[in-house]
Amino acid sequence: MLTGKYALVTGANRGIGKAVVETFARHGANIIANSRTVRSLDETCARLSSEYKVGAHPVYFDVSDPQQVKQAFQEIVKISRRLDVLVNNAGVLDNNLLGMIKPELVQEVFGVNAFGTIYVMQYAARLMIKMQRGSIINLSSIVGLFGNAGQVTYSGSKAAVIGITRSAAKELASYNIRVNAIAPGFIDTDMIKSLAPEKYAERFDSIKMNRLGTPGDVANCALFLASDLSEYVTGQVIGVDGGMVI
Ligand code: NAD
Repeated sequence: MLTGKYALVTGANRGIGKAVVETFARHGANIIANSRTVRSLDETCARLSSEYKVGAHPVYFDVSDPQQVKQAFQEIVKISRRLDVLVNNAGVLDNNLLGMIKPELVQEVFGVNAFGTIYVMQYAARLMIKMQRGSIINLSSIVGLFGNAGQVTYSGSKAAVIGITRSAAKELASYNIRVNAIAPGFIDTDMIKSLAPEKYAERFDSIKMNRLGTPGDVANCALFLASDLSEYVTGQVIGVDGGMVI
């Protein structure tokens, strides 16, 4: 479904990002995989390349640092000279009640989840505008749509991702560049392990399908949005939540 396309996926060393690079490579995409930790994706990229016969290149940068993002795109241009798909997946969680939120954490969470999404999108859009096509997929969250007690900072940053997505979709539609968001519910990754047991149980109980989502569930939605199957879909926020909010 993605044969010959080049896809950049941020935060690809675990969880949803890891599932996205695996799924995309299986469907023929050349992968540009991002992580902050140097060498952490060297082995994965070598394996993807030999298993699926695709290009797979690690690019190490912090999405919240505009200078690092700029340098990373100089590297990406050397690797591929083009970009067909961007998945802004890197994200950090914060579970503090309002009275406990520290300014440094607000900076960090918005820095990665919201500002990082904008920084990476800026450079990706330049490459895509040259090609007059592309698909950008931003990871929001169900709490960005509906809020959640104890997650003012996180849900605020994920609500920002929705505004960013819709505005960029309006701005880029005439270049044939689509911008959509995925709003996962409760997905079985390291991120949800930091939740207090009672919060975990409360969220699990709200899942109508009675199971946690898997990283693969989210990756399959990203595959649809990355592929030409969704060529007339833009500016949308697609829930992948097992019916958490119906
Ligand atoms: P995770 O914590 O397992 O993975 C997050 C990834 O982002 C990690 O690889 C981490 O190293 C990377 N990352 C963090 N800060 C970074 C930075 N500054 N630069 C580059 N990479 C950075 O979490 P996950 O569950 O796989 O989450 C993936 C995305 O999905 C996140 O944006 C998250 O907010 C969103 N999401 C997850 C859930 C869930 O239930 N797991 C629900 C809704 C939304």
